[in-house]
Amino acid sequence: MTNAADNSCIVCGSAHSDLLFETTYPEHAYPGTFAMRRCRGCARLFHSPPLPAETAAAFYAREYYFFLRNLDAEFRRTADIYRRTVALVHDRIHERRVLEIGGARGCLLAILRHGGWKTQGVELSADAAHYADTVLGVPTFAGAVEGYAARAGVQPFPLVLAIDVLEHVTNPVGWCRAVSELTEDGGYLVIDTPNADAANIETERADWPGFNPFHINIFSKRAIAELLTERGYSVERLFSYGNTPRPEPPSSWKRRLLRHPFLRSRLALRLRLADRGRVAFQRVRSLLGGRVNVTHSLAAAVTAATRPGSYLDMPDAAGPLANDCRGDNIVVIARKERRNGR
Ligand SMILES: [Zn+2]
Repeated sequence: MTNAADNSCIVCGSAHSDLLFETTYPEHAYPGTFAMRRCRGCARLFHSPPLPAETAAAFYAREYYFFLRNLDAEFRRTADIYRRTVALVHDRIHERRVLEIGGARGCLLAILRHGGWKTQGVELSADAAHYADTVLGVPTFAGAVEGYAARAGVQPFPLVLAIDVLEHVTNPVGWCRAVSELTEDGGYLVIDTPNADAANIETERADWPGFNPFHINIFSKRAIAELLTERGYSVERLFSYGNTPRPEPPSSWKRRLLRHPFLRSRLALRLRLADRGRVAFQRVRSLLGGRVNVTHSLAAAVTAATRPGSYLDMPDAAGPLANDCRGDNIVVIARKERRNGR
C-alpha cells in the first residue's frame, strides 16, 4: 500500500510508504485505530495519520505513565543508560556541562551532578520537571526543547543527551534543529531510541515492545543518520542493544486478553482504573518517601554506573545484532561540526 504524495517523508522526502500494521490500544483508551507505516526511502516508521494536536495533548495528559516506575527502579535502569551513553563520550568533553532533553524526573542528571557536572534538564511534563528540580536538585525547564532553545541567553552545551525521547517527537526536524542550536560546535549529541531496523519487528509485528501509542516516530539507522547530518552533525558511532532474537512474540497478557471483543470494553476500563490506582500510589509514595530514598538510590546508581569496564565489551553491546544495528534500540553518538572547520 502506498500513501498519498502529501504524506512525503519529513526526513528523506520519499512520497512512498507501506503499512506495517494497524492495531488498537484499548488498554490506553487510544481513540480509534493506530496505524504504523514504513517509509520506503529511509525505513523510518511513523504513525499515520497523526491524532489532531488537541486530541494528542489530551491523550498524553490522561494516559502517560510517567509515575508508574518507582524511583529505585528508575535509578537502576539509569545506571545502564549512563554506561552505554555518557560513559562512552565523557572523556571527550572538555567542560563538564550537560543538557538532557526529556530528562523525566532527573535520575540520569542526578548521577552526572554527583560526578561534578553542571546539569540542565528540559522536560515536557511539568510534574516531572518539578520533581527533578525540587527532589533531585537538577534544574529543569518545563516545556519543549524548541521553547528552551528560543530563550534569550541560553548557551549551547558541550554534551546533549536525548534518551528515549526521539520516538515521542511529532516534528523530528524542528526538534533536531533546536537540539543542534543547543549543541556547541565540536560538542556531542547522544541519542538512545527504539530501532526501526530491529530484527524482532519482523517476527513480533505490533507486539514488538518498542511499539505503543506514544511512540509515533521510530528511526532506522539510515533515517537517524540523515536527520542528524542535515542539521550539522557527523555520526561518530551507531550501535544497537537489546540484541536477543526472540522466537515467540512477548505479547503481553493484557493485549492478548483485550483482543477478545467481549472482554475489551470491560477489561479496558478495569485496567485503566488499576493503572490509575498505581499512578496515585506511586505519586503519594514519591511525595512522602522521595527524599528519604533518594540518597540511597542515587548512591547505588552511581556505584553501578561507574563500575569498571566498557559497556561496549559487555554481552548486550557485543551481541550478534549490535554492530549491524538490528537490536531493539539504537544509540547514536554524533558530533556537531565546527562551523569554521569545514
Ligand atoms: Zn523517509
